[in-house]
Amino acid sequence: MNSAMEKIFNFIDANATAIQKDQDLSYLESLLTVTESWLDGHIQPTEQASKEDIRKAIQLAVLKGMKEHVQPHHQMTPDALGLLMGYLVELFMKEKQMTILDPAVGTGNLLLTVMNYLDGRITGAGVELDDLLIRLASNAGNLVEQPVTLYLQDALQPLLIDPVDAVVSDLPVGYYPDDENASTYDLKADEGMSYAHHLFIEQSLKHTVDGGYLFFVIPKALFESPQAPQLHKFLKKHAHIQSVMELPNTLFKNSAHAKGILILQKKKDGVKAPKEVLLARVPNMSKPESMAKFFSQVSGWFKENKE
Ligand code: SAM
Repeated sequence: MNSAMEKIFNFIDANATAIQKDQDLSYLESLLTVTESWLDGHIQPTEQASKEDIRKAIQLAVLKGMKEHVQPHHQMTPDALGLLMGYLVELFMKEKQMTILDPAVGTGNLLLTVMNYLDGRITGAGVELDDLLIRLASNAGNLVEQPVTLYLQDALQPLLIDPVDAVVSDLPVGYYPDDENASTYDLKADEGMSYAHHLFIEQSLKHTVDGGYLFFVIPKALFESPQAPQLHKFLKKHAHIQSVMELPNTLFKNSAHAKGILILQKKKDGVKAPKEVLLARVPNMSKPESMAKFFSQVSGWFKENKE
């Protein structure tokens, strides 16, 4: 383990545990208090640390808190996946400066991983329904000194956010409870409840500039559900599918929650679809040789189709 990161984690953890005992709060609530006191300068770690050390230490503390307070729909995006998303954003996005939206920002870990990866190039925006998570995201954003604007609201309601260059998001999966609002979407279900993840894709495309890219973590079965034909038709009309990647099951505790990555480009006059869609299987990320092969497959595809 990186020692600066470990020291920052120990600093956070010791303070959070003390507050938790003292004030009878959950670990995540205590973590929020710790990050607030740290930002206010009431407490300070003795160790100098990089933005990544700070992000990772906060992430470890969030993971500890989430174990205590299991919220299956609020799972933080695993670190290895965040780094892979960072690599993909860097590959596709040629802008020196860009805006990125995560409409399901959660603790901010995915967005901040990508922002740290492309440090200095991204202005971020995030939307989240959960008050505690978005406050943690806000404090984490300030502590790692990344420019992020956060909105506490249902991301499927109208957003007051200018169209962004790219969307990066680990989509919430399941049914969207607000049928009335769902009915305003092309991707509403013909019958019964609509899939939140489909509506998120539509909302994200709406908030992306023409020609912009969208990088989604999706449920593995996205294109196999009964509502998939409708999604296909919608995507064909509004976007060019760039890539569909299968993620290794080792990343997810429960294989029923297995996920993949979907990369889209919003249509724009003069922008063509890639000659072929990159269909790839991400190998076990702890195996450097397999990962090297995977990266060479992706960059080979990029040269053939995008340059
Ligand atoms: N990438 C995030 C991270 O690193 O912490 C985790 C994203 S998690 C898979 C999905 C998030 O979407 C959850 O935090 C959940 O509260 C949020 N969410 C679900 N429905 C939402 C909605 N309608 N509007 C905004 N956020 C929503």
